[in-house]
Amino acid sequence: MYDYLIVGSGLFGSVFAFEANKRGQTCLVVDKRDHIGGNLYTEKTAEINVHKYGAHIFHTNNKDIWEYVNSFVPFNRYTNMPIANYKGEIYNLPFNMNTFNKLWGVKTPSEAKAKIKQQREEVGITDPKNLEEQAISLVGTDIYKKLIKGYTEKQWGRPAEELPSFIIKRLPVRFTYDNNYFNDRYQGIPIGGYTIMIEKMLDKADLKLNTDYFENREELDRVAKKIVFTGMVDQFYNYKYGVLEYRSLRFENEILDIDNYQGNAVVNYTDSDTPYTRIIEHKHFEFGTQNNTVITKEYPKEWKPGKEPYYPINNKKNNEVYKKYKELVDKEKNIIFGGRLGTYKYYDMHQVIGAALEAVRKEFKEDI
Ligand code: FAD
Ligand code: UDP
Repeated sequence: MYDYLIVGSGLFGSVFAFEANKRGQTCLVVDKRDHIGGNLYTEKTAEINVHKYGAHIFHTNNKDIWEYVNSFVPFNRYTNMPIANYKGEIYNLPFNMNTFNKLWGVKTPSEAKAKIKQQREEVGITDPKNLEEQAISLVGTDIYKKLIKGYTEKQWGRPAEELPSFIIKRLPVRFTYDNNYFNDRYQGIPIGGYTIMIEKMLDKADLKLNTDYFENREELDRVAKKIVFTGMVDQFYNYKYGVLEYRSLRFENEILDIDNYQGNAVVNYTDSDTPYTRIIEHKHFEFGTQNNTVITKEYPKEWKPGKEPYYPINNKKNNEVYKKYKELVDKEKNIIFGGRLGTYKYYDMHQVIGAALEAVRKEFKEDI
């Protein structure tokens, strides 16, 4: 008999397992995949650490969380500075003075602000209600058309007018010549890849891979006193209030016999014709000097139950459905729900760690 059955060896499940083990509790971690780590899993291919489920850059403003991850594995000084390729034109991201200068020839922040204000006023948006209006209101119509609309509609498979504004607010808009994609104080990639960090977190837990909770539910429910569940919350309740929607992805990897394919870790393809959203060149995350390189094209894909869920689609309809599941979740005494799928939230890694540590504090009645 274990103290905890942890469904999912992603970041939430692994942080919880580590902290529970540290407090003398026993844990069995099960995952339906054949590896640990969930979506941040990295694997060596041709001597290069490949982010198997898309580029993962750790960033946080929270010193404790930064020190926490660095206590498992040292992080490097990688700073994400993706570029956008719009039909062969190259722009810096996030939207900053370099982007504005390339697009409009403006040189000062006040010139850039005036240009954006003029475009916003032409469209007449005062109170943005969806992603399209929010984007135009932040950066004007030119940037919206070249760098946002095509990318967003490919990524989400829906018109930008039907998407929530918070998605575009993830990206900084800056009136400085600063290409850093994040505003956070701490940023980097674990030296040697993320899998090392997860291995250390799961060091003292028992682990069963290739094990789907739902295919072994009766048996697994009996092996522990409590469950930490990081799979899909609607599936847990047999979809009784309906299906929560996701966006899925397909990754296409290539090993190339050249040392540098695109000169940057991340290049976004922001037009609507290119079927993929971005190309990742993994060696640049770790300043690799290998003679060859590995690239990954990321194709957004429709999700259906049974396919791999990556991005929760937090629009009004889905959030309403989630609210009903949340009422059931709140009544559970022996089950803790966590992570992107368990709480249906578009969480980044630092937020998942924060949420897992919070769940640990609550569970063990600690108020640090
Ligand atoms: P997951 O990683 O999804 O782990 C859940 C685990 O549970 C999986 O291993 C799954 O196989 C398992 N599981 C699910 N159902 C079952 C079941 N029924 N039985 C057994 N096992 C099950 N965050 C950042 O901070 N920076 C980034 O740059 C970044 N880039 C991203 C890029 C992409 C393409 C994606 C998809 C996400 C990105 N993220 C990024 C977010 C990051 O991946 C998540 O915040 C984090 O990995 C979530 O951890 P988790 O434990 O909640 O979920
Ligand atoms: N986005 C965009 N153009 C870009 C990059 C991002 O329009 O070149 C929009 C898009 O809607 C995307 C959102 O900004 O879904 C958030 O981008 P982020 O890079 O944070 O997405 P993630 O890495 O989570 O996929």
